[in-house]
Formats: sequence, C-alpha cells, structure tokens
Amino acid sequence: MDTKAFKRSLHSSENYYRKGFGHSKEVTGTLDFEYQSDLIQQIRNNGYTLQSGDVTIRLAEAFGFCWGVERAVALAYETRQQFPTKRIWLTNEIIHNPSVNQNLKEMQVEFIPVNDKEQKDFSVVAQEDVVILPAFGATVQEMELLNEKGCKIMDTTCPWVSKVWNSIEKHKKANYTSIIHGKYKHEETVATTSFAGTYLVVLNLQEAEYICNYILNGGNREELLTKFVGAHSLGFDPDTDLVNVGIANQTTMLKGETEQIGKLFERTLMRKYGPAELNDHFLSFNTICDATQERQDAMFKLVEEKLDLMVVVGGYNSSNTTHLQEISIERSIPSYHIDSAERIGPGNRIEHKKLHKDLDVVENWLPSGPIVVGITSGASTPDKVVANVIQKIFDIKATM
Ligand code: SF4
Repeated sequence: MDTKAFKRSLHSSENYYRKGFGHSKEVTGTLDFEYQSDLIQQIRNNGYTLQSGDVTIRLAEAFGFCWGVERAVALAYETRQQFPTKRIWLTNEIIHNPSVNQNLKEMQVEFIPVNDKEQKDFSVVAQEDVVILPAFGATVQEMELLNEKGCKIMDTTCPWVSKVWNSIEKHKKANYTSIIHGKYKHEETVATTSFAGTYLVVLNLQEAEYICNYILNGGNREELLTKFVGAHSLGFDPDTDLVNVGIANQTTMLKGETEQIGKLFERTLMRKYGPAELNDHFLSFNTICDATQERQDAMFKLVEEKLDLMVVVGGYNSSNTTHLQEISIERSIPSYHIDSAERIGPGNRIEHKKLHKDLDVVENWLPSGPIVVGITSGASTPDKVVANVIQKIFDIKATM
C-alpha cells in the first residue's frame, strides 16, 4: 500500500484519534497549574521587561510553548483522562522538555523501550494499549506496525509537520528528489524521510553548497556518498538523483538558512538547465513553521539590545532551542543554554551546555552591579520553567 493510501485507511480506523475527547476544561486547569506562571504573565503585561534590584530582565516577545506543543501535551493529558486504567505508551518524548516528560511518566505514561542498538521495542505494546505519537510525528513503519497490532493510537503530530510530509509526497509523486534541510537523526526528520521517495538530508548551507557544486561541476561520487552516509535514501545516486529536486525542511531549523538553501538550489538548477526549464527541475513550498519563525525573529530583535548576558532555556536535544542559542553566540553575547532552573546554583554557579559541545560549569556567571539579562526559551519549554530561572537569578543577585 502506498503511504497516501495507508494514511487514508489509518485515518478512517476507529482506533485512531487526532482530536481530544471533550476533556479540555479539566485538562486546561491542570496544564495551567503545572506549566503557566504568574511571574511570566506579569513580565508580558509589563512590556516583556521587569526590574528587581540590580537585575533587569528582558524577555523575548515570542518564546516558549508553541501552538503545536501545547496541543500535543493537552492531547496526551486528555488521553490519560479518557483511558484511566489503560496502559499508555509514548513512541518518543512527546516534546523535548524534561519536566513535561517527567510529568507524563508520573501519570504512568511510559516510553517504548529502546534496545542497545537504539531500536524501539514495540513488542511491549498489547492490543488493549494506547500509543501516543509525539508532536514531531512517527515513521510510516511505526504507524503501520501499531495499526497492525490493533491498539489505539493518539496522533498528536503537529499540523505544520504534516504540511512538510504533504510537500514530500508531492515530490515523490512527481519523481523529484526531496532535499531536506534538517538533522538526519532528529525524530522529526526520521519521520519525514519515511514518507519520502528519493531524498537527501543537508544539515546546513555548506552541505547544500557542496551538493550544488556537484550538480554544476560533477565531483567525486564516492566522497559524496561517504560524506552523506545515513542522510540519503537507499540506492541514492548523485549522478541521476539530483536532476529534479524539491525542497523541504525540519520545521525547527533556522528559517533564514532554509530560505538560503532553497534559493541556492533554485539558482543552481537555473544555471544548469536555464530559466525556461527551471519549473521542470525545481519544486519548493513554504513549510517553515510560524512558531519557529516568530521565536527566531523575536530573538534577532532581543539581541539588538544592550544585554550583559543571555539565558536560553530548553531541552538539550531541542533543535529550535539550539538555534536560538546560535543567534546570541553569533552576536558574541555571553549566552547560557540550560534545560531547567536546577542548573543554576548552589551560589553564583551555572551548569550549561556550550553550543554543539558538552556541559560546562561556570562559577561567578552573574557579574556584580546592575545587569540586563535577556531570556528566551524553546518551543517546548513551559513558562513555569522560565519563571523558576528568573527567580533564581533574582535570588542570587539579591545576595551579592
Ligand atoms: S515548532 Fe512548529 S512545527 Fe514544531 S510543534 Fe511547534 S508549531 Fe508545530
């Protein structure tokens, strides 16, 4: 069965859910209590700024939970409410945030175990169980397997991610190779490539330039295949599979870079085949998610201000959070990426993740005297976590 036909049959199954069960009122109260914060609301109402003692907080005008994440978390809570006694599984972290995933564990929502080869062991799932698919989706193979088991499936895949999958299916139908701007091991991209026909995942502009150079001038085929090992479809041949290409992306990549990559391929194919032939060789649909775009735009605006330092809050495996961190590092602002307020202290100390590196401990990270601290958070970070971080900064500075 092709993926489109499979999706149609899955969507009509009585075991498959994509909407809530009518418990939104009860669930909203719980979610507000667990994830919202009065302090953050106060800062929002005050023009995204707050001063306390020597500290001025400048909050990005768009940050934290995006619509797709809020929806996924609410659907997971509704699922627990609807099936109070059933065993509920998650195929992955529902979103990349440790506190949300911990809360779900406490609600007896379990993760599918992963073996030492990093493969998920679905044998634990029984027909009477419920399986939740996360906001960034699941692969076609996983969905087929779960459908065959006859278990209930709550699919919280964000509609923005589904939009990318639809683009990929259009490439496949037209026999175009999908060039996907993303991280080939990221769960969302793994799911996206499962919908693709021929594909190649490029991480950044440099990789895209390497491929475009190959399209125009040829090159070492074996070197290309080695460089992109794991990042292309089975049997991918750069000599025949880069003639017609379509562009797609992981929704949380840097928006500007996705646009640059799209334009680069467009220019390259225009040079190779001429403007009149371009439409026969190049397809592009806008699939950059609004939430990612808004958070990155707000960050670009924030780093224009005079900040003494920046704190970026979000899961360490969260792609969109890492991109926010990149923006402030590019501006040479001392910037600390932490996943929770527990990374701060004891005393004037912080344990943070250096960009594309390991955790690092910095003593005396908050300078003495008046300081302006920029704060933002990734799309999977609850306001409460950000509020706890701000409170810790206030507390440390109050003792200095
Ligand atoms: S970041 Fe965008 S694509 Fe991802 S869950 Fe949020 S709204 Fe959906």
